[in-house]
Amino acid sequence: MEAKEFKEFAKAMADYVAEYLENIRDRQVVPSVKPGYLRPLIPEQAPVKPEPWTAVMDDIERVIMSGVTHWHSPRFFAYFPTANSYPSIVADMLSGAIACIGFSWIASPACTELEVVMMDWLGQMIGLPDEFLARSGGEAGGVIQGTASEATLVALLGAKSRTMHRVKEEHPEWTEYQILSKLVGYCNSQAHSSVERAGLLGGVQLRTLKPDDKRRLRGETLQEAIDEDIRKGLIPFYVVATLGTTSSCAFDALDEIGDVCNSNNVWLHIDAAYAGSAFICPEYRYLMKGVEKADSFNFNPHKWMLVNFDCSAMWLKQPRWIVDAFNVDPLYLKHDQQGSAPDYRHWQIPLGRRFRSLKLWFVMRLYGVENLQKFIRKHIALAHYFEKLCLGDERFELFEEVTMGLVCFRLKGSNENNEALLRRINGRGKIHLVPSKVDDVYFLRLAICSRFTEESDIDIAWKEVKASADEVLAEN
Ligand code: PLP
Repeated sequence: MEAKEFKEFAKAMADYVAEYLENIRDRQVVPSVKPGYLRPLIPEQAPVKPEPWTAVMDDIERVIMSGVTHWHSPRFFAYFPTANSYPSIVADMLSGAIACIGFSWIASPACTELEVVMMDWLGQMIGLPDEFLARSGGEAGGVIQGTASEATLVALLGAKSRTMHRVKEEHPEWTEYQILSKLVGYCNSQAHSSVERAGLLGGVQLRTLKPDDKRRLRGETLQEAIDEDIRKGLIPFYVVATLGTTSSCAFDALDEIGDVCNSNNVWLHIDAAYAGSAFICPEYRYLMKGVEKADSFNFNPHKWMLVNFDCSAMWLKQPRWIVDAFNVDPLYLKHDQQGSAPDYRHWQIPLGRRFRSLKLWFVMRLYGVENLQKFIRKHIALAHYFEKLCLGDERFELFEEVTMGLVCFRLKGSNENNEALLRRINGRGKIHLVPSKVDDVYFLRLAICSRFTEESDIDIAWKEVKASADEVLAEN
């Protein structure tokens, strides 16, 4: 493809993208295609001769859009949001053009240096203490991981290497294997499945602990588990505190957990994948009280801060436990400036990394902190609006207090009725929700996901929920 054609193609695509997003409300949220729908729509093999770009454009609606779930429809209320904004899309275009692999500073100095500064901007925006930021002048700083799952694993590996180092000094007679088999980590049983997975991948035991009646992991519970394990000869080394659980957006008692971790020499990682974006609004920072006691903190701007996937922001107070422990430095990756700026390949699992900080830079500059705050506040207000509608109908109850953009609700009564309710709602095809179950109580989750969602969409969602409930209850 020549540059002239590229420009035409890119302009046509920009027009298409803007039309798609601005009119997304008119599309059916979940497509009605069946598995295998796509293969018959395209040839069996790749074309031998090049096709014109217009032929590709012509196929987008027919082949692709007919099978897309429109996550950015204002009537998509499933899972948690995934971000989407014009500045971020354009930044990804530039990142695609530069197409560097920023594994070391010299591999593209701008790629590393913008990331260092953007992680400082972002950290300040959410009120992280300076001890996490590169601007503090110490070793601390931020890194963009692909996902929160990777951040949890990287933190676990850091915790593991810090504890191994300490225990080896205390017990030089113990073998590495003996120490490893004694390591034990902890999280709320409501923590994301990626935490348990990090334990499996890291080859260590991870205990899930019972939260209180508000689904919060408490310090006392953690302390009891640690005491019990120490009595058994185990070595507690890692705790993940969740701020905003996936099922119901509950917040662990971070302040209490932080004290327990600090007094037991245990690495504390904070997983605020979804809710972390809300901390750009000072009125929600009470939910991260005690953050200064943590060793690492992570949230996903790619969820709720208008930065397209993938952009998971992680800060480490002592990156040396990852950087030094997993440093494999072949000659072809070494350079003269080593040590004067981070070589981010040591802060993550893969070697390669895209120029993702461009997305943060574009979004923060083109929205400004003020508009990002407005966006978060609007989503939370819409959730409260749905909550009000729900509470106005005595057939419904809330499963969890609404603090962010998620409403957990259910019909009073049996799980079966609520399962039938969800089937009805999704079957009608106007809106899309997913359920969850905690302590055997099945409930529906309505997450405000799209930046296009307005009160009128919430009215429609409520109408759908009510009509479906009428049908389900009439059948009882
Ligand atoms: N942690 C929490 C609390 C989440 O809600 C999620 C996803 O929703 C994750 C981790 C996983 O995020 P990622 O897909 O970035 O790994």
